[in-house]
Amino acid sequence: MRPYVTVNLAMSADGKISTRERRQVRISGDRDYRRVDALKAGQDAIVVGIGTVLADNPSLTVKSPALREGRRNEGKADNPVRVVVDSQARTPPGADLLRKGTGERVIAVAESAPRERVERLRDLATVIVSGADQVDLDQLLRELHRKGIRRLMVEGGGTLLWGFFSRGLVDEFCTFVGPVVIGGKDSPTPADGEGFLLERDFVRLEPPVVTECDGGVILRWLVKRDN
Ligand code: NAP
Repeated sequence: MRPYVTVNLAMSADGKISTRERRQVRISGDRDYRRVDALKAGQDAIVVGIGTVLADNPSLTVKSPALREGRRNEGKADNPVRVVVDSQARTPPGADLLRKGTGERVIAVAESAPRERVERLRDLATVIVSGADQVDLDQLLRELHRKGIRRLMVEGGGTLLWGFFSRGLVDEFCTFVGPVVIGGKDSPTPADGEGFLLERDFVRLEPPVVTECDGGVILRWLVKRDN
């Protein structure tokens, strides 16, 4: 058993999620920002890769006081559990997601992670160990499910999302496509990694729900399941 997994991200009209320097850029506008905040508030956990933590230092908190209050009224913490997929325990102890806001944090590491870095993070977060040299995403999701996490959102980046897509671990893919072109063959995209070679392996999506927003569009796709 694993949680229901929603991928949410913003990309440019040419399919890039940041610049080739992997610098955080604002692609969406205020309305989409509020949509994402509400989506986040409805989750049990938010997941990012260590690349995103090192590049963007996100806090991953719910920003709207009303949404946080709504969560409290349901007996939940202000923020969903914040999870970093970080095989070698490289998350800086001063990272915003470890310091800002209340609620549980999880650092998912591999068995080969340096022991002293893992122990330092244990003071700040729950540590889940899986995989020899790289986090085993299937095992991590099973573990998070055992902890009661039923709805989980993955925010990126492209390398981690490839890990989720390539293992068939995505149920829903939401993307804001913004009215900008970023360019660059080395700029990250929503699914980097190796990529599929054979058409039969492609992740297939149902026809999307399309909503205009902030001069761009939100595409909401459900992943097709073979019956
Ligand atoms: P990332 O996807 O955030 O993190 C990748 C890292 O995750 C890997 O290098 C790997 O490092 C770790 N990882 C551990 N287990 C894994 C597994 N099983 N499969 C895949 N990865 C695994 O980093 P990124 O690709 O460099 O993306 C960062 C960029 O994305 C930044 O530029 C950021 O601004 C952008 N971004 C954009 C958006 C958006 O909505 N536009 C959202 C998020 C991020 P270890 O093996 O060392 O653990």
